[in-house]
Amino acid sequence: MAAGGAALGYTVYLFPIDRLSLGLSIFALFTVFFSSYLQIQLPRTKLYFTISDTLIFIALLNYGGEAAIVLATLESLFTSLNFKRKGIKIKTKTLFLNGAIAALTTFATVHLLRLLFDSVSDFAAGSMTNFVKIVSVMALAQFLSNSLVVSLFATTKDDKSFWKIWNENCLNALIIYVAGAFAAGFFTKAFQQIEPFTIGVTIGVSALIYLTYRRYLNDIKDAAAKAELAERERTDQAERHIEELQHYIGEQERIAQALRESHERYRHAAFHDDLTGLPNRNFFIDMLKFLLERAKYQEDLKFAVLFLDLNRFKTINDSLGHLAGDRLITHVAQRLTSLMREGDLVARFSGDEFGIILKDLPADEYCAHFADLVRRRLLTPFTLNGRQVFTSVSIGIAVYNNSKYQEAEDILRDADIAMYYAKRRNKNFMVFDQTMHARAVTLLQLETDLRHAIDRDELLAYYQPIVDLATMKLKGFEALMRWKHPQRGIVPPVEFIPVAEETGMIVPLTLWILQESCRTLAGWQARSPLNHSLIVSINLSGKHFAQPDIVDQIRRIILETGVNPSSVKLEITESAVMENAEATIMMLKQLRALGVNLSIDDFGTGYSSLSYLHRFPIDTLKVDRSFVSTMEDGSENGEIVRTIIALAKTLNLDVVAEGIETIHQLHQLRILGCEYGQGYLFSRPVPLDEAQEILDDPTRWQNVIPNNNPASVAQNREFTHLTIAN
Ligand code: C2E
Ligand code: MG
Ligand code: MG
Repeated sequence: MAAGGAALGYTVYLFPIDRLSLGLSIFALFTVFFSSYLQIQLPRTKLYFTISDTLIFIALLNYGGEAAIVLATLESLFTSLNFKRKGIKIKTKTLFLNGAIAALTTFATVHLLRLLFDSVSDFAAGSMTNFVKIVSVMALAQFLSNSLVVSLFATTKDDKSFWKIWNENCLNALIIYVAGAFAAGFFTKAFQQIEPFTIGVTIGVSALIYLTYRRYLNDIKDAAAKAELAERERTDQAERHIEELQHYIGEQERIAQALRESHERYRHAAFHDDLTGLPNRNFFIDMLKFLLERAKYQEDLKFAVLFLDLNRFKTINDSLGHLAGDRLITHVAQRLTSLMREGDLVARFSGDEFGIILKDLPADEYCAHFADLVRRRLLTPFTLNGRQVFTSVSIGIAVYNNSKYQEAEDILRDADIAMYYAKRRNKNFMVFDQTMHARAVTLLQLETDLRHAIDRDELLAYYQPIVDLATMKLKGFEALMRWKHPQRGIVPPVEFIPVAEETGMIVPLTLWILQESCRTLAGWQARSPLNHSLIVSINLSGKHFAQPDIVDQIRRIILETGVNPSSVKLEITESAVMENAEATIMMLKQLRALGVNLSIDDFGTGYSSLSYLHRFPIDTLKVDRSFVSTMEDGSENGEIVRTIIALAKTLNLDVVAEGIETIHQLHQLRILGCEYGQGYLFSRPVPLDEAQEILDDPTRWQNVIPNNNPASVAQNREFTHLTIAN
C-alpha cells in the first residue's frame, strides 16, 4: 500500500496540468463510474472481461501515463466500493490495497513503456510495427505486474506456492490484457485516422455486439440457474428421502431393540417353571446343547441325564385335588434340589416329570448311587391336607460318554425311554441301552399301525375250542384276536394288546371282537338247536374298568347281534381284577346283571385274596396254562391245580384248564374232576372257517381217550370233592 501510495503521489506531483481537458474529464468520469458495470464473466471461468482495462489503455495512449495511473487507481477504488455496496464483504484495508495495486502496476507499465519507447504519445504517428510493439509490451507489462503483485499477496494468505497460485489464477488473465490492449490500440488509431461518422458506427456496432453477447450470456446464465435450481430441488428431495429413510431405519432399529428386550424378558419367564421356581425344560435342553458343544473340545467329557417321573401322581392328584398335587410337586422339587452338587442341574419338565444333569461323573457307579439317594430322600412321606402321602420315582438314565449323541433332544429321549422301562419293571432306575431304543421305535410304529387296523379290516377273530372233559364234546370257543399286519403277517396279541391298552385303543378293539364273535355265535345258534348250548368267551382288559360306559356298549352289542347273553362269557385276568378290586366288583355286578357269564382268567397268577374271591360275582375259574403245562404226578403244580379245582367246587364255580397239550395232562385233569379244557391237544386257535368244521364234527375228540367212561370221571369228581372236604 505504501508503494502504491508513493507511486500515486509521485504521479500526481508530475501530472501535466495542461493536458486536463473536457474530453479527458468526460472520459475519466465514464471510466471510473460506469466501466465496472460493463463487465462480462467468461462462461465457466472466474474471469471477468471488463472494458475498464481497455479504457485505461486508451487513456494511456491518448492522455498520457499520469492520467492512466490516476484513472486506474480511482477505477479500482470505485469498483471495490461497488462490490461493497452489492453486499460482498470487502474490508476498507482491502479496498485501499486494491487501489494501491492498480496504482503500482499501472505505474510500472507506464514507466516500462517510457523506458523502452521515447514517447508513447508518438505511438499514433508511428508505424504499424511500432504500434504492435507498444500495444504488446503494454499488455504484457500490465499483466505481469498485476499478476505478480496479486500472486505475491495471495501467497501470504495461502500455503500454496507462488507458482501454483500464479498458474491457477492469473495465467488465464493474459488473454484479457492482450485483448484489452489491442482493442485500446485499435480505438486510438481509429479516433485519429477515421472520420467521426465511422467511429460512431464502430462504437454503435460494438455496443450492439456487446449488448447482444451480454444478453446471450444472461440467457445461458438463466438456463443454467434454472437447471441448477431443478438440480437443487432434486438433491433436496433426495436428501429429504434419505432423511426419511434414515428416520425409518432408526425407527426400525428402535422397534427391533424393543423386541429384543421383550424377547429377553420372555426368555427369563420362558426358562423357568412358575410352580417350583426350577429351570424348565427349555433351560434344560439349552444346558444339554451347551454341554454337547463343550464335548467337541473336551473329549473326556462325561455327564448323565436323568429323567424322573413320580409314581402314582395321578392317583394323588385325582383323590386329593390339584392344589395338593401342586404342593407335592413343590416338596419333591425341594428335596431333589437338596441333593444337587455344585454344577449339577435339576429342572421340572411338566406335570410330575423332572430332569437332572449330573456333570463330571466321578465314577461309573455314581448314577446308581445317586438314583438310590433320590429314592431314599423321597422315602419319608409328605404331609398334604393333613394326610401322609407316599410317593416314589422311576428314573431313566442316559450317559454321555464320548458317545454318538449329536442332539440334546436325543439324550433326553433315551433317558425317557429308560424311565419308561424302569416304571414298567417296577425298578427305581434303569440305564438306557440300545435295545430299549429299538423296542421303543417298534412300539411307536406298532401304535401308529394299530390305529388303522380296524378301518383297514386287518383284525381277525380266531377261535379256540373249549371241550367238556367228561363227555369230550365241544362246549364252546374262546375268541382270540389276531392282527393281519400288511408287512409283518399275523401279529400275536401279546405284542399288540399291551400297546392297545396303553394308548386306549383297547376299547374299540374289544368292542370289535365282541361284536364279531357274538354275531358268529348268533349265526351258529340260529342254524341248529344243537348249538343253543354253545358258549363264546371274550377277553376283557383291565383298562375297561376306567371306562364307565363299557357296560352300555356291551349291552348294545348283545341286543344288536341278538345273541343269548347266557351264551356269552367275559374273561378278566386275575391280576386285572386284583389291581382295583372294589371298582371291579361293582362293574362285574353290572355285567352280571346283563345276564352274561364271568370268568377269571389265568387264575393262580394274580394273588387273589380268598376274602375277595367269594365276593366276585363270577361263574368260572380258568386255571393258568403255566400250572397245567408242568403238572405231573406229585409235583407242586399238580397240587396247585388240584387245589384250584377243589376251591372252585367249594365256591360252586366251573373250572376250565387251559394249555392242555398232552394226553397225560388230559388224564390227570379228568381224574381231578376238571370240567372243561382248552389246549393244543384239541386244537390251536383257528380262523372262522376251521372253527365251522369243528362245529360240524362235535364228537371228534371222543376217541382221544381210548376207554372213555364218563362215569369214572364223575366218580373222580366226587373223590376230589371228598378229599378237600376232609
Ligand atoms: P388268554 O386269554 O389266557 O388266552 C389263552 C392263550 O393261551 C391264547 O394265546 C392261546 O393261544 C394260548 N393257548 C391255548 N392253548 C394252548 C396250549 O395248549 N399251549 C400253549 N402254549 N398256548 C395255548 P393267545 O391267543 O396268543 O393270546 C394270549 C393272550 O392275549 C390271551 O390270553 C389274552 O389275555 C390276550 N388276548 C387275546 N385276544 C384278546 C382279546 O380279544 N382281548 C383281550 N383283552 N385280550 C386278548
Ligand atoms: Mg382268555
Ligand atoms: Mg388264560
